[in-house]
Amino acid sequence: MTFKRSLQAALRSARGGGYARRIIESLRPVPEPLPRAVFNFTIDFELCWGTAFDHDPRHQARQRALSSEAQARNFEPFVRLLERTGFPVSWAVLGKLADARHAVPEGARFRPSWHPGDWYAVPEGLLHDERLWNGERYLDSLRATLPSAEILSHGYAHIDYRDRAATEAVARADITLGRRLLESRGFRPEGFVYPCNKVGHEGLLRGSGFKIARGGGPEWSAAPGDVILSPVGFWISPGALSLADFKRIVDHAIELRAFVHPWMHLVECDLRQRDLQDFYRPAFDSVREHEARGELEILNFGGIARRLAPLDVP
Ligand SMILES: [Zn+2]
Repeated sequence: MTFKRSLQAALRSARGGGYARRIIESLRPVPEPLPRAVFNFTIDFELCWGTAFDHDPRHQARQRALSSEAQARNFEPFVRLLERTGFPVSWAVLGKLADARHAVPEGARFRPSWHPGDWYAVPEGLLHDERLWNGERYLDSLRATLPSAEILSHGYAHIDYRDRAATEAVARADITLGRRLLESRGFRPEGFVYPCNKVGHEGLLRGSGFKIARGGGPEWSAAPGDVILSPVGFWISPGALSLADFKRIVDHAIELRAFVHPWMHLVECDLRQRDLQDFYRPAFDSVREHEARGELEILNFGGIARRLAPLDVP
């Protein structure tokens, strides 16, 4: 482990390791038809489009630059790790990555009172570097390199589905456009991941062909005929959890027959801290070992939906 990561781990344990404990407390058993714990690891992939929630435009511009640069830098090494290990990871992808400049019709555009500019415009400071806002090359690479990876929809433009500016027309356009643009790139998303896990307008998801979504709290919601909402899971970062913490969480989940659902953004991976070698790779290997012992199943969201509602999902 690098000095920085060791120091972070020491500080966390001196503070009582609260984050890992909270994650363990939030674990809930999977619904009945699933016989053992279920594991799914998702990367929410958004380049510059995921950080517009911040209300301060100056902070926002800087955040968007830093975050998209890190994602662009980490994408290939992370994909190579997944290619080498064959570890199945789901990707929650914004429609913006398939077509950053798609025209959203008047009446369906997200215009929150707290956002000064055009929600859909490429940030001016990033225009010079297409790698930071145009996702086409990354989607082509995912399709070519990880052809069996599950692609989930993260909506079109990372809007806040709970904001009053997200009217039904706005939400519907964001859901359908996100799906359509991913389809135009050859993907068939079966599940939906709400931006910032802010769940809203769930009733629209089934009409757009989604059977399952990541929910916003610890509980499952799987009423027949409704979209299945999974527990929200937890944000994973080697700066906030150690490998030992991660293993402890998985051990508890196995005992409880729970859903273990870590999700991340590529910005949290720091290549200078050897995170691929010291954190993600051994974390994936340990999950594989549990799977080989029959202690958990690795499922993607489409797989979970088919198991929970076999009559409902083609
Ligand atoms: Zn997001």
